[in-house]
Formats: sequence, structure tokens, C-alpha cells
Amino acid sequence: MIYLQNFINGKWIGAESKESREILNPATGEVIAHAADGDVADAQAAIGAARKAFDSGDWSELAATDRAAYLYKIADKLEENAEEISRLETLDNGKPLRETQFDVADAVACFRYYAGMVSKPDGITYQVSDPMQAMVVREPVGVCGLIVPWNYPLLMAVWKIAPALAAGNTIVFKPSEITPVTAKWLFEIIEQVGVPAGVANMVMGPGKTVGNEIAESHDVDKVSFTGGTATGRNIMKAAAGNIKKISLELGGKSPNIIFADADFEAAVDYALFGIYAGAGQVCSAGSRLLVEDSIYDRFVEELADRAQKIRVGPGNDPETEMGPLVSREHMEKVLGYIEIGKEEGAKLLCGGRQLKENGLEKGYFVEPTIFVDTKPDMRIVREEIFGPVLVIQRFKDEADAVRLANDTDYGLAAGVFTNDGAKAMRVIKKIRAGITWINCYHPTYNEAPWGGYKQSGIGRGLGTYGYEEFTEVKQININLEVEPTGWFSN
Ligand code: NAD
Repeated sequence: MIYLQNFINGKWIGAESKESREILNPATGEVIAHAADGDVADAQAAIGAARKAFDSGDWSELAATDRAAYLYKIADKLEENAEEISRLETLDNGKPLRETQFDVADAVACFRYYAGMVSKPDGITYQVSDPMQAMVVREPVGVCGLIVPWNYPLLMAVWKIAPALAAGNTIVFKPSEITPVTAKWLFEIIEQVGVPAGVANMVMGPGKTVGNEIAESHDVDKVSFTGGTATGRNIMKAAAGNIKKISLELGGKSPNIIFADADFEAAVDYALFGIYAGAGQVCSAGSRLLVEDSIYDRFVEELADRAQKIRVGPGNDPETEMGPLVSREHMEKVLGYIEIGKEEGAKLLCGGRQLKENGLEKGYFVEPTIFVDTKPDMRIVREEIFGPVLVIQRFKDEADAVRLANDTDYGLAAGVFTNDGAKAMRVIKKIRAGITWINCYHPTYNEAPWGGYKQSGIGRGLGTYGYEEFTEVKQININLEVEPTGWFSN
């Protein structure tokens, strides 16, 4: 059994209320951990520690190369423990080991990427008239609240923690209350490498109390949030009190467009990968598949045939290709959407059931599911289901594909498959989304900005963009000939 405590001001402590929460393995429903269930008081203690640490300058005024050295050490230790951490991530989140191994490797690379960036030049000077000298410098924002969801528990944490610490901020991190296990390992590493007490704090607990306090507190200068769009809206409101800086990485209903001239087998393969990787619990999932009329029947038939052959099972079985959903509650939500799709008149082509055979009955497994004969105004086409449910839309030509692709409140990601390079670029340029792919789906890079248009968020994570989100810019104007202005005569 794993016991998880909050990490506040360099100390591991239980929730002030003494409450704890059971953490379940989504493949079996078994209790794997007891986590401190923090509330407002715990969040305030962590915010107070982060405030004191920031104001002391112990971290923000450290030489950039010294901060980088801590980040490199964190990366090394994560790498040394990669096998154990991916095993725990699979236990907690449910996704197959091959996915969590990838997540841990990506987390290691992210720490190294920002360790490398922090010591590079990041200010500018510009010419102004003599005798003035002008420059712009970047400074840390201050205390940053980092709130993440359950679908990539470690990776989403690292996408925020690495740039925030690199830039000299102090942090209060809140994992999802459903998946806090690997955060413990990450913060133990942060402690082991000697990051000063109070610089990095972690509080577990519900969004409504801990998360809301982080978003609302006037001692927090910035909140960086990844999660659902409705929660993002609440965070914007809570953050308004002290005009907190906010970055929001929210939901999506991303189109994946298949033209008739695409490489057929590759397009089928990526269409499956786009929706069923992570059991569809991926913000950028290609959850709306747009297929050109002339290949529609053949494409959909091949897709359904292959979807039904996906091996669904526990994430720790090396044979498993798709794991369970993260919780019973989330599974009920996804199954609810499948019922809504049927009621709306869409045709269920395959899947649609909870899998209960072959020892899966205690877990939260849902079959790879495909709906056809959909209409653009159906809820299953418009709303984020966040599960292994693909909705297919048919299109006539390029203009029709662009119109359907953009007919959404979201704007996170999009894919286009065609062997006509000019057409691919024409379409991508017209699509209102922040993350796009041509003839592939899902590759992400630490170097590239991650985030969305429209209701998919505000700001960008990763890359130089993600680093800048954790900085303020200050202009400094220096007078090189100091004498009175003479503006007033007396
Ligand atoms: P969620 O919004 O329910 O929760 C995310 C986090 O916010 C959790 O830690 C939760 O405790 C906290 N929270 C909840 N209510 C809060 C409040 N009122 N104030 C402050 N914090 C609060 O999301 P989820 O169900 O954990 O994750 C799924 C969602 O995350 C999906 O919509 C998905 O698209 C999105 N997501 C987006 C990205 C991206 O990069 N755009 C990446 C991963 C997941």
C-alpha cells in the first residue's frame, strides 16, 4: 500500500483535517494508495511557504546555471527511476506500460530542455536616442499555482514544473485528486536533489477547495491550469480578484481529415492511433474523423474492422494495446455519451459496451467505439467525450472539409491526410487550431508551443513560449548623462 502526503515547505505532512482519500487501480478497482485529502488550509500553508521562498530570493536570484544544475539532476534521477515510475503511473492511471514509459522519457527530456534554456540569452536591447540606453529583461512571475488533470499525471506536472522552476518562480502544485501517485516520486526527487525548502510545494485534494484556493489567493501571482474547459472558466473567475496571470490548456474536439488521395493504410492507422491512444483520454485526440465521400465506405469498413481487433486490457500486461478509463465515474460519463449518440440517431458501427469478459469486470474498460451517420449539431459531435469514442463525418470536397473541421467551439488540434502537399497546406492554414499535423497524428515536441485557439485555452505551454508564460518582462531605461530635465522653470 502506498501512503501519500503533501509536501509543504520541505516537509512531508498529512492533511490538516487528517482526511485521506482512497486511490484506485482503474484496471481492477482495488485500492492502491491512501492520499492526504487536503483542503483550503493546506493550500494556504503551501502558498505561504512558496510566497516566503520567492520573496527571500533564494531561488529567483540564484544564478541561472545553478537553477539549471538542479533541473539536470532531477532529470537524471527521473531517468534512473523510469521503470518504477512508469509502473506506478500505469497502476494509477491505467494506461499501458508502453505509453507511460514514453511519458516518463518525455518528462526527463522536458527537464533537460528547460535546464538548457534557462542559461541562454533571453533579453533584448534596442536603439533609442542618446543619451539613453534601453533594454528588456525577463523576470520570474512569482508564486505560480500549477493545476493538472489525470490523463498524463506526471507529464502534465513536468510540462509546468520544469519551465516554472527554470524561470525562477516558486510553485504550489496540485495533482488531480484521482491520480496523485507519481507526483510523490517527483517531489521526493525534487527534495533529494536539494531544491531549497518552500520553492516547490505539493498539495493534494479536490479542485473545489485546494484548486480554487490556489486560483483565488492574492499571494499567488500566476495560475497555469490544464483540464476541462468548464473548470478553466471557473479558474478565470477565481483568478480575477488579483488579476492573476493565467495560462489555460483546455479541452478539444479535434478534426482528423482524410482526403481520398491519402495513403490509405497510413491514414487508417493514424486514425486509430489518433483516437484510441490513451483510450481517447487525450486532449488533442482526433475524436472527429472527417472522411472524403469517394473513399468513405471502404475507409470506414477497414477502420471498424481494425478497431475491433484492438487488444483491450490492464496496462501492466505487455499484450495490452488500450487500457481502462481512469475511474468508474468517468466510464459512466463516456457510456452516457454512447447512449446519447444512439438517442440522437447516430449509427453505432462498432463497440459501445463496457467490457466485462476475461477478468475485466472490476475495471473500467470500454470497447473501441465508432459512430457513423452523424450530424454536425449532435452532442456527440460537438462535446468532448474524452474516451474511446470516434465520431465520423463525411465530406464532399476541400471547402466542405474545412467548414466541418472549424464547426466547433474548440481549437486545440487537427490532422490532414493527403498526398497533395499544396492542398495539405491550404487546409491547415484555414483551420483554427493550435496544434496541427500533416500525414501523421499526435507527435509532440518539447520545442513546440502546446495550446489551443478558441475555447481550447489561453497561452501556450512548452518551447520558448511555455517558458515566457512563466516570466514577466521589464523595460529598463538608463540615462547615461545625468542632469536635470529643465521641464519646469522653477
Ligand atoms: P478537470 O478540469 O476536471 O480537472 C483538472 C484539475 O483541475 C484537477 O486537478 C482538478 O482537481 C482541478 N479542479 C477542478 N475544479 C477546480 C476549480 N474549481 N478550481 C481549481 N481547480 C479545479 O479535468 P480532468 O477531468 O482532470 O481532465 C480532463 C480534461 O483535461 C479534458 O477536458 C482534457 O481535454 C483536458 N486536458 C487538456 C490538455 C491540454 O493540453 N489542452 C491536456 C490534458 C487534459
